[in-house]
Amino acid sequence: MTAHDSQHDGVQPPGSSASASKAPVPACHQARTPAFAHVSQLAELMAETRKYPQGVSRADLCETLTLGRNAVDRRLKTAIGLGLLIPAGRGMSTGGRAPEMWRFNPAVATILVLSISYRSSTVALTDLSGTIIDQIHWEEGILSDPHTVTAHALEHLGALHDRHPELPPAWGLGVSIPTTVDFRDGSLIAPATARTGGASDTLSWTGFPLRSRLARALNLPVWIDDEVNVLALAAAKRIGAPEDLLYVRLSLGLGMGIVSHGQVHRGAAAASGEIAHIQMTGSGGRSCRCGRKGCLETALSGGALEDAAVTPQALKRSPYLRRLDENGGIRCEHVFCGAAEGDPVCVRLLTEAADRLSVVLAVLTTTYNPGEVVLGGGVAQAGEFFSRAVGQALRRRVLPATSERLRVRMGDEDDALKGACRMVTDALLSAHVMHVWLPYGSPVGVAELVTHRRQDA
Ligand SMILES: [Zn+2]
Repeated sequence: MTAHDSQHDGVQPPGSSASASKAPVPACHQARTPAFAHVSQLAELMAETRKYPQGVSRADLCETLTLGRNAVDRRLKTAIGLGLLIPAGRGMSTGGRAPEMWRFNPAVATILVLSISYRSSTVALTDLSGTIIDQIHWEEGILSDPHTVTAHALEHLGALHDRHPELPPAWGLGVSIPTTVDFRDGSLIAPATARTGGASDTLSWTGFPLRSRLARALNLPVWIDDEVNVLALAAAKRIGAPEDLLYVRLSLGLGMGIVSHGQVHRGAAAASGEIAHIQMTGSGGRSCRCGRKGCLETALSGGALEDAAVTPQALKRSPYLRRLDENGGIRCEHVFCGAAEGDPVCVRLLTEAADRLSVVLAVLTTTYNPGEVVLGGGVAQAGEFFSRAVGQALRRRVLPATSERLRVRMGDEDDALKGACRMVTDALLSAHVMHVWLPYGSPVGVAELVTHRRQDA
């Protein structure tokens, strides 16, 4: 037993005056602050339990957390009282009575997520493990005005909430957006990696107070991250995922998220993985939206695919593309879907894209030696054909030492939603955030979480 075990946990059991309810907690609420050691051990216990959907026993927890029985019992009691853990039957007997098992209960609360893409957005309602319960998709994204997108996002989030009065309340909102985010405070710090076609300009999102607007309007804590990091987080949390991986997002723009030792790697200026603007062809290349010429994105992105799909040669050879061109225009999503359906021109365009991508990935995988390269974003619609093409081209360019333990796979279309949920659940169940809400029994209506400027501490 540690010295802190004798202190009161400071946790209100559910059903008491400060338990989880939809009513906001008054600012003057006199909650007892739990000992930080208790909260940090509780956070470790939750992290451990979440790894094992089939459940863990007290003995398992004592061993992995290197805590005594009394300490584990105390944390178990708190977690069960909060509804975070539920019984999972009996485990295997090792001679005596079969041990009681406990597992994480993702249904104790819900999470709201907002995934802003280039030309479309999605809001979803999930449980704490990222299982999507309901979602609304609409045609408007980072190429549109931030005020309008935010207003519509709030309308749709409200509609999702109203559609499910039977569900427990939302504990937080996770936002994924295809632009660089300073994760310390969730501010949008640079133009998005999309080409700026037409009147709308992603520059208008730089400095837009998206996080505080959403937090105030919903009275919920909000976490925001660059879409590439959210995607990478989703891949990192899959069962069986390697500790080191790269997630390439190929949508209208190009980007990459990096996971190192199981953690999202952001770099010194939150710009790690910004591969779109590596100058590949020198100053003679095509003009890029960043103001320079010859960037990788001008040759390898959904935007580049759209340009290649409307050339006279492409239209001549593909009745599929010709039909789309005559009916409102070709978008990169059409090229991804066309390739999945075997349209020869779309397959050729994506095979060429796979080859270009393999040049960059050869350098990155040789340097970094990841266990997995995930290809996602809009290109997830292209299906396994694309990961095979990238894998084959990449293996030709690197030594077996790099490729023999490397898996190249397609991402899931809902990785951004799952990753955004995961970001919020991880934060809510981290020691420093739990320390704030634990006295109230739930994060619902805890003003300090809604107004806290930092999102990383
Ligand atoms: Zn550029």
